Amino acid sequence: MPRDFHESGLGCARRQGARTIASMNTDRLSAPRPRIAVVATGGTIAGVGGQASSPAYRAAVTPVDELIAGVPGLEQLAELRAEQLMQIDSADFTDERLLQLARRVAALCARDDIEGVVVTHGTDTLEESAYFLHLTVPSRKPIVLTGAMRPATALSSDGPANLRDAVAVAAHPSSAGRGALVVMNGQIHSARDVTKTHTLRPDAFASPHGPLGLLAALQPRWYRALTRLHTADSEFDIARITALPLVGVVAGHGNMRAEVWQALAQAGARAIVYAGLGGGTVPAYLASTLGDLCRRGIHVVRASRTGGGPVMRNAGFDDDACGSLVIDDQNPPRARLLAALALTRTQDASALQEVFWRY
Ligand code: ASP
Repeated sequence: MPRDFHESGLGCARRQGARTIASMNTDRLSAPRPRIAVVATGGTIAGVGGQASSPAYRAAVTPVDELIAGVPGLEQLAELRAEQLMQIDSADFTDERLLQLARRVAALCARDDIEGVVVTHGTDTLEESAYFLHLTVPSRKPIVLTGAMRPATALSSDGPANLRDAVAVAAHPSSAGRGALVVMNGQIHSARDVTKTHTLRPDAFASPHGPLGLLAALQPRWYRALTRLHTADSEFDIARITALPLVGVVAGHGNMRAEVWQALAQAGARAIVYAGLGGGTVPAYLASTLGDLCRRGIHVVRASRTGGGPVMRNAGFDDDACGSLVIDDQNPPRARLLAALALTRTQDASALQEVFWRY
């Protein structure tokens, strides 16, 4: 990053940050540091406005160079290459944007002059983008996503510390080969497991089996490892994916309507994920609708709305009789992505089921 970057027209606090950096031990700055790409996509981490007494603020405003300048000492951790890939509320992530993000991250990971990638992202769909990168970027280099629950202008914004932590994790050699990671609130989560579980609190992100690790004095400390396939070992490669088939999600609740399923089929869905009750239980009054969909070649994928635990085949519904599938323990938004990716490789129900066990 150009040295004059931190001196350019930033606010008082940020100029303070620039002085802090300028006064650092120059030996540390001139020593080779990991080269980390920061890909900014928007979200609350780039949000402005809002008062404690009012929830209204604008997400996706502050440009990436200002986000970086707002974190004193960040350049001690890594040599940063920042780019603004998009500037959106993460609710506006479409499959096309997801493919765009994955292609860019894969291209950066393929470069010899980049050791890791940090993606700044809105928190609402952060877990989906993280999982998609986890499945489709064929690299062992660290890929770390982060965001913020409070906008940059809030009294105790969590964005600067999250960005610092994400860069620290991406820059550390021990982070390689662990798949895409989500760093929030001092914790390091696997993209396979993490979910946003709260609308407001900075500790909104949680994993059903716990985070993989945490940051201690800006060093990653690992406590768990993944057993499922990802990134370099995944059979999905963003270089070979031009579009995703339509996969819908139907929410489970009392008094469901068959018409919702039929509308998705009509819209061209190749699979429909059921965000099911409990262990994916299907009410008796929907069994014939689901059977009919399966007979038409539209895959029914049972997941759970509970937020944890596997969906068992032939428990709560007769999958063998219907031809339906189960997604193991993936939440419905991630089940949608895994099903869409699996459908780019096979249409066969038992082959799809095998894919779901592997990831
Ligand atoms: N709506 C915002 C987004 O996802 C929320 C956030 O970033 O926390 O872009």
